[in-house]
Amino acid sequence: MNIIAELRHDFPVLSQSIEGQPLIYLDSGATSQKPQCVIDEINDFYSKNNSNVHRGLHSLSENATSKYEYVRTQLAKFLSVNSKEVVWTSGATESLNIIASGVTCDLNSQDIILISALEHHANIVPWQQAAQESGAKIAIMPINKQGILDIPAAIAMIEDLKPKVMACTHASNTLGNINPIAKLIDAAKKVNAITVIDGAQAFLHLRPNLSQLDCDFYVGSAHKALGPTGLGFLYGKFDKLNALSVFKTGGEMIDKVTYESSSYREAPAKFEPGTPNISGVLGFGAAINYLNKLDPIVLHQYEQTLYSYCLNQLQAIDGIIIYGDTQNNIGTISFNYRDEHHYDIAMLLNSYGIALRSGHHCTQPLIAELGIQGTLRVSLAFYNSHNDIDTFITALKSSIKLIA
Ligand code: PLP
Repeated sequence: MNIIAELRHDFPVLSQSIEGQPLIYLDSGATSQKPQCVIDEINDFYSKNNSNVHRGLHSLSENATSKYEYVRTQLAKFLSVNSKEVVWTSGATESLNIIASGVTCDLNSQDIILISALEHHANIVPWQQAAQESGAKIAIMPINKQGILDIPAAIAMIEDLKPKVMACTHASNTLGNINPIAKLIDAAKKVNAITVIDGAQAFLHLRPNLSQLDCDFYVGSAHKALGPTGLGFLYGKFDKLNALSVFKTGGEMIDKVTYESSSYREAPAKFEPGTPNISGVLGFGAAINYLNKLDPIVLHQYEQTLYSYCLNQLQAIDGIIIYGDTQNNIGTISFNYRDEHHYDIAMLLNSYGIALRSGHHCTQPLIAELGIQGTLRVSLAFYNSHNDIDTFITALKSSIKLIA
């Protein structure tokens, strides 16, 4: 455990002060912090290797291309899939847009798109767009009062409605719940639904094995997994990926262009027009290398210990209301203090150097279902310490005294 505690020193951001207080970063669900090796890799690219990929015969370009493509194989290995099935995107949002717009032409007014009540807007709005364009209907897999997905009800919906698409988040960004997606994927496959999993929050904490999960599509964000912003990935089974119609077009994704028409290359190139985020990909490669050196079981145990430590202390404060699944959780706690506005408490906490998120967390329908205006959200990562949590709890108690 002490080895893990030492890892925080790899993250330079964490050693600074905010408002004269040491920074306590509890907002990894929004974006993770970056280890020095990721920052160095990006710096190195621009200082020594900057050139475009896939276009030049000169050494710099060849070097950049081989590094860029190597990171694709690294990620594919991390996910236990083939590198031809991994597309670089600008983030999980773009990945979900590629899938939703790519299947729209196969949808019609008889079709159902089934999503869960826990989705981030990024896994709602693209489907609304697809529904508007195709006439398909959206149905929602329900949650209970605590905010936990009702699995028997969800499976019954899959069996009864026989949706064309079943899209669900692996872990809720607002509540931290880990959804039993294997059960949903199994049920959805029996009715031939296209299965889409939003892994933006799960990737760092759960290290999904996609060959075991066997979903059709899985998306993630590099910046939520120690990598740079502006980069994400789209995994798709090769045939399913190639069957998507293209989302963006331009150079690099084409096979042949005449003034009359164009033909496209196969995935992944088909979905990567234009100059990609090369430095981002290389930085993410360094992040994957970093993660590969850490024992996932030890990391997971440490994160779960931190989570329970934080949860227990929050639960001990009179008036704190906690939402979501506290048994199966990636280490994210959404809470309120009585009916005080989350914004006021978040502002006070900032004055103590505590960085956490408040609001609807891009899940307005979920927040409405919980019958609240928003929450305060602590989202932990392995670079947090027990001291971070002690400092946060002390600051929270002081904030409560000030507003109550
Ligand atoms: N899905 C979930 C569950 C998220 O938490 C987020 C970001 O918060 C996204 C999708 C969108 O990710 P990005 O902003 O990196 O595109």
